[in-house]
Amino acid sequence: MNLIAETDFLLKKYNLKAKKSLGQNFLISEEIVCGIAEVAEVTKEDTIIEIGPGLGTLTSKLAECAKEVIAIELDDDMIRVLTERFSLYDNVKLIHADVLKTDLKGLIADKTSVKVVANLPYYITTPIVMKLLEDDLKIEQITVMVQKEVGERFTATPNGKEYGAITVSINYYTEPSIALDVPRDNFDPVPDVDSCVVNLKVRKERAKLKNEKNFFRVIKAAFSQRRKNIANSLMGVGKSKQEVKEMLDALGLDSNLRAENLSLETFVKIADYIS
Ligand code: SAM
Repeated sequence: MNLIAETDFLLKKYNLKAKKSLGQNFLISEEIVCGIAEVAEVTKEDTIIEIGPGLGTLTSKLAECAKEVIAIELDDDMIRVLTERFSLYDNVKLIHADVLKTDLKGLIADKTSVKVVANLPYYITTPIVMKLLEDDLKIEQITVMVQKEVGERFTATPNGKEYGAITVSINYYTEPSIALDVPRDNFDPVPDVDSCVVNLKVRKERAKLKNEKNFFRVIKAAFSQRRKNIANSLMGVGKSKQEVKEMLDALGLDSNLRAENLSLETFVKIADYIS
């Protein structure tokens, strides 16, 4: 199938132009579309939540491989295209809504084996991924196209500049990996950045925390002043210099370390200490 011609045909047929404000960059590579379905290990047992189906390029592949696709699209124009395109499919359910305001838990309440697969709108990548994780959905894995730099932040290891609060949060909920590198010329219109497909395997067992809120407070405090050493930045959780010093001594942590030097396990220890 020639996805360049198909995308062009659909945009012309419906007299549409890609909307930059909604992050519309359509996939035009059959190889990448198939690659995404493979990475997500989509089978006929699976219900797929697709975010931002756009013209339906990836949706059509997912509908072929999965039991069912629930596709959530905000744009009225895209919904018009999708409604006609999938009118004869009995396993594609279209939801015309903002994914950030959608009750995802309700949508999949009676489903088993749920995966999220999407070429995400880049202007809200992190809020979408965090919503998927924080909503505590019964999902096995999330396979999403993201901006390359974002993928690198999701999968970073300690001691580098990409390692940040989002890395620790993503690692708390999932085991992340970059599955495919996707150069910018695989999209129409061509975006200003390269992309990658990340696979986030949702952990069945997360780190046991005494208080999850404190864990996120600690991460936020540590990274919001990432240039400072932890003896100073951790005072941001409402502790005095002396209390922070006592904690670091008790945990055997060098007070000159910075947030980027701390592993997920260390953040868990700090959060548990203050809880
Ligand atoms: N899946 C298509 C593809 O791969 O060609 C389109 C992907 S495009 C990068 C992102 C899609 O997300 C667009 O169709 C856009 O309209 C949609 N979108 C943007 N913001 C959204 C939101 N808040 N909720 C749901 N869909 C959204």
